[in-house]
Amino acid sequence: MQQFSEHRPLVYTVKNRCRVCYTCVRDCPAKAIKIINGQAEVITERCIACGSCVKVCSQGAKAFYESINPVEDLLQSTEKVIACVAPSFPAEFTGIKDYRLFVAMVKQLGFDKVVEVSFGADVVAKKYKEKLKTTDELVISSDCPAIVNYIRHYYPDLVPNIAKIASPMMAVDRIIRKEYGKEVKTVFIGPCIAKKAESDEIDEVLTFTELRKMFEQHEIKQQNVNARDFDPPFAGKGALFPVSRGLLQNIDKLGEEIDNDILVTHGHVNFKDALEEVASGSIKLKYLEMLSCDGCIMGPGMSKSKKRFRRQSKIVNYVKDKLENLDTEKWNKDIKKFENIDLSRKIEAKDRRLAKHEEKDIAQVLESMGKKEAKDFLNCGACGYSTCMEHAIAIIDGLAETEMCLPYTIEQLHNSFEKINHSKSKLNDARQALEHSEKLAGMGQLSAGIAHELNNPLGVITMYSNILKEEADPSSTMYQDLELISEQAERCKGIVGGLLNFARKNQVRLTECNLEQLAKHSLDSVIRPDNIDLKFLSELQNPMVWIDRDQITQVLTNLEKNAVEAMPNGGIISVELTEIEDNIKLTVSDTGTGISQENIDKIFTPFFTTKGIGQGTGLGLPLIYGIVKMHKGKINVESNNNPEKGKTGTTFIISIPRNGKAL
Ligand code: ADP
Ligand code: MG
Repeated sequence: MQQFSEHRPLVYTVKNRCRVCYTCVRDCPAKAIKIINGQAEVITERCIACGSCVKVCSQGAKAFYESINPVEDLLQSTEKVIACVAPSFPAEFTGIKDYRLFVAMVKQLGFDKVVEVSFGADVVAKKYKEKLKTTDELVISSDCPAIVNYIRHYYPDLVPNIAKIASPMMAVDRIIRKEYGKEVKTVFIGPCIAKKAESDEIDEVLTFTELRKMFEQHEIKQQNVNARDFDPPFAGKGALFPVSRGLLQNIDKLGEEIDNDILVTHGHVNFKDALEEVASGSIKLKYLEMLSCDGCIMGPGMSKSKKRFRRQSKIVNYVKDKLENLDTEKWNKDIKKFENIDLSRKIEAKDRRLAKHEEKDIAQVLESMGKKEAKDFLNCGACGYSTCMEHAIAIIDGLAETEMCLPYTIEQLHNSFEKINHSKSKLNDARQALEHSEKLAGMGQLSAGIAHELNNPLGVITMYSNILKEEADPSSTMYQDLELISEQAERCKGIVGGLLNFARKNQVRLTECNLEQLAKHSLDSVIRPDNIDLKFLSELQNPMVWIDRDQITQVLTNLEKNAVEAMPNGGIISVELTEIEDNIKLTVSDTGTGISQENIDKIFTPFFTTKGIGQGTGLGLPLIYGIVKMHKGKINVESNNNPEKGKTGTTFIISIPRNGKAL
């Protein structure tokens, strides 16, 4: 018999197969599965080996200790090896027509004898019958090893009530040793994983699925064997054992007086509820029989099938046949023969209950998952725990993680989406700004080239037209033509100057200067008709700001010039200085025509102008844009050009850091 421990676990996790669906967490009656770094891990010391996680995991991420190799070793050895077959075999090997073919197949693997465990169930049932007759205390049956483990770990106070009666497997092992010799090796073959750790008397434990594999490996088929019966002793009603109430049916004629004090349950929910009620004293029982699975016919060591009732009927039919052919006399004789066999066993408590936690600690964990009010407690069970409270406690115990809460995770996901969307739109803005800057830079280079090439010929034109002008008679048409030439050449020089300004690989020379004075002075110097009024407002606590004096003057002058040009019928130009934290906000607004929606995206593009030829160059705003960027600032425009909907006008808002030098 293998010894299981944390280093050699009976049930374990297959690393990286887990897809964190929490099905095993939900299904584990002992809460022996912890989620760590997004992987479900079996906690050996809490595990009751019921094999439930193995059954429910669709990814094969839970496995159990395989005994094929040690059994093969035994069969290869010179030892006499006896197979003890659990009574649920007809439910697993439904395709085998005659049970004697199955026995022959097992024998073919190399076993010396094949004995039915049901006979063990027969003698054990007798023992229970006696026990129940002689005690008034609650008797909990010890037939299901997973249940025994559960009580030892989680209801240690009920351990004294567990019948210290050998299981049918242990009983048959002792019978075999009496019948065939102490030194024989025994291999139990059954539906159960927990059996592998139930007793160290038995040498090895195979599950039916492992047996199937061995049949396949050895190519053993029912067609190729000669039917043979089990080796004695032959069982009677004990063969009914694997179906729910099986043991009870075997202890018939128990006496009517305890009928109402009997509770038989199967499945996790039921056995946990039963134990809870028994422990709390809410029910008084004489006999409690619990099976972790839906009867041993649905054990985790069996093939995955949902056909519980078909399996049950297979067992019942098998038992019916068996009882019809049973040599009762022989059976009675055998029962008598092994009457005095020792059927006692030891069961000790191994308390694995978790400590209780303070309410405030639980509340804190719940709050970290956004659970504060009654409406937040969905108790949806998606995390694998029935209630949010249980989940929170498991988190404190280090068994669970907050991310397991689906509503919480969905909310987090939504928040992340929002953040991503926000970043995306910021990225978009930045990309647009970059594209714009690149475009400006490209145009700047072009402009610089053109301007540079034009400057010299323009100088020559101006110079020669002036020389010729001096020589010409001022009243002549020639003189007027020459004047037009030099006037237009001057205009061209203006444009070229603008281009050079825009294209200049500018560097800012930051000095600390009084922005209030600078802005006021620029506004006062605006050339404007009388019907335009000026307004100036400064809310600066400290007017001293680090800027490039000439460039900011140019910004203000250009904005104010545009404002004047946008108000042919008069209006107001306002300049305001405010501050928000470390940024200075410079606002220039007018009550002019406004900018149409169609044009607003174009105004910073070089050469975009709505002004007539000779009036606009379309270089003012691109220049401003460049200067603001060089000051590590931002420029925005708000404009309204729909006179029907109230006031018209345009506002340019520039924000620059107060101390651009520090950036
Ligand atoms: P320009 O003044 O030479 O046309 P700008 O770059 O200064 O070039 O301006 C580009 C265009 O932006 C202008 O032609 C005009 O259509 C629009 N614009 C600029 N400022 C204003 C304003 N304050 N009101 C209305 N339109 C404006
Ligand atoms: Mg302009």
